[in-house]
Amino acid sequence: MNEYVNELMAQVKAKNQAEPEFHQAVQEVAESLALVMEKHPEYRSAKVLERIIEPERVLLFRVPWLDDQGDVQLNRGFRIEMNSAIGPYKGGLRFHPSVNLGILKFLAFEQVFKNSLTTLPMGGGKGGSDFDPKGKSDTEVMRFCQSFMTELSRHIGPNTDVPAGDIGVGGREIGFLFGQYKRIRNEFTGVLTGKGLNWGGSLIRPEATGYGAVYFAAEMLGTRKETLEGKTCLVSGSGNVAQFTTEKVLDLGGKVLTVSDSSGYIYDEAGIDREKLKYIMNLKNVKRGRIKEYAEKYSTAVYTALDPAMEFNPLWDHKADCAFPSATQNEINLKDAENLLKNGVYVVSEGANMPTVPEGVELFVEKKILYGPGKAANAGGVAVSGLEMAQNSMRYGWTREEVDNRLHMIMKSIHKTCWDTADKYGTPGNYVNGANIGGFLKVADAMLDQGGV
Ligand code: NDP
Repeated sequence: MNEYVNELMAQVKAKNQAEPEFHQAVQEVAESLALVMEKHPEYRSAKVLERIIEPERVLLFRVPWLDDQGDVQLNRGFRIEMNSAIGPYKGGLRFHPSVNLGILKFLAFEQVFKNSLTTLPMGGGKGGSDFDPKGKSDTEVMRFCQSFMTELSRHIGPNTDVPAGDIGVGGREIGFLFGQYKRIRNEFTGVLTGKGLNWGGSLIRPEATGYGAVYFAAEMLGTRKETLEGKTCLVSGSGNVAQFTTEKVLDLGGKVLTVSDSSGYIYDEAGIDREKLKYIMNLKNVKRGRIKEYAEKYSTAVYTALDPAMEFNPLWDHKADCAFPSATQNEINLKDAENLLKNGVYVVSEGANMPTVPEGVELFVEKKILYGPGKAANAGGVAVSGLEMAQNSMRYGWTREEVDNRLHMIMKSIHKTCWDTADKYGTPGNYVNGANIGGFLKVADAMLDQGGV
């Protein structure tokens, strides 16, 4: 079966050159699915995986906008409509200078499996731009979002493709994007998720990815009859996912020692309590400041600037029980993975997408730690986006408790699917295989039912 993976990867690399993140994401899934293809030749003869790898549609467009000086600026916009076998395309928009086709294709590919795992009827997609909201005024961000949506609005809709937020796209950006869509299309529909509460948003959507990653960690710990109570945790990032991961760890009795941004990280030996978390939220969401300022305010914290020349990230080199990478892809390299294990970390629940390099993943699986890959552990965000779509269709909103309970049930169900599937395919406790195979089967069967499309 390795031959199957090798052949497939040779084709993927030849056809999708200079897209290393996409190759990485496909390789991981293909290796898990080799176990399925042995048992189910029908998937192989119908070229189901080959079709999942090929996006149904890729949109690439020009986004011109005027800065505050009246000068023309130019960015590139993308939307990858990856797979619609089980529902409308669904997945976030990322605004970050590193955005390119390969990164968005890896994210869209992951999204197909993740959305399938949520049990909700959502296909997979992803989009964004190389626009950097950092350092831009609110009016510049608004003009960019309006220009971006002017083109995107032709391709999306509540039954076609429903984008949401991701890195660099939070409540402010979703508001500007929604406003422009409504204006162009003259309709008020649930075309985006992550909306404001008083205009169609869902309670718990901002919290969902972080809460979900912690619920997933609690489920993994539950298999060893343990809880998060008293556990020390390393969190990276200080954006949406990191903030609500920290909040839920506090709710469940754990202690968060670190958070970071792309400039560096803070280590707070006293732990980040609710008051400090409130400070971080204000610093990042309102003041749009840097995490360094945390250490200037709280004397129990030490700030370390990120040094790109270093072969490892010191954030992952502290004694702890759990790690919640919540910043970006490939932020844990092999040395970081080794450091985590050396320091006693035995729970890794990925809030970010693909934050661990393949060699790191292999090490976690080999050492049999509780390792929850992103496509399972961070699926809570898109799950509550799915619940936002359901509420929009009903024109009715659920209470906070109702949405949180549903999120919790969905994370338990994702955990059970991963656990049971890993077991069924002869690799007990391997959440990577469980998530890849569990997510694949539902999409693959739908594709077989729907014929050669
Ligand atoms: P935010 O933009 O809110 O926060 C991102 C955080 O990560 C910031 O602290 C940012 O620092 C840091 N970061 C971004 N890029 C890098 C980098 N290249 N190196 C180091 N740090 C970096 O994004 P989210 O919290 O929404 O997303 C974080 C991760 O979670 C991403 O991988 C995303 O795909 C994933 N995710 C998000 C979901 C959601 O619902 N929002 C759902 C599922 C997954 P700085 O401020 O300096 O840029």
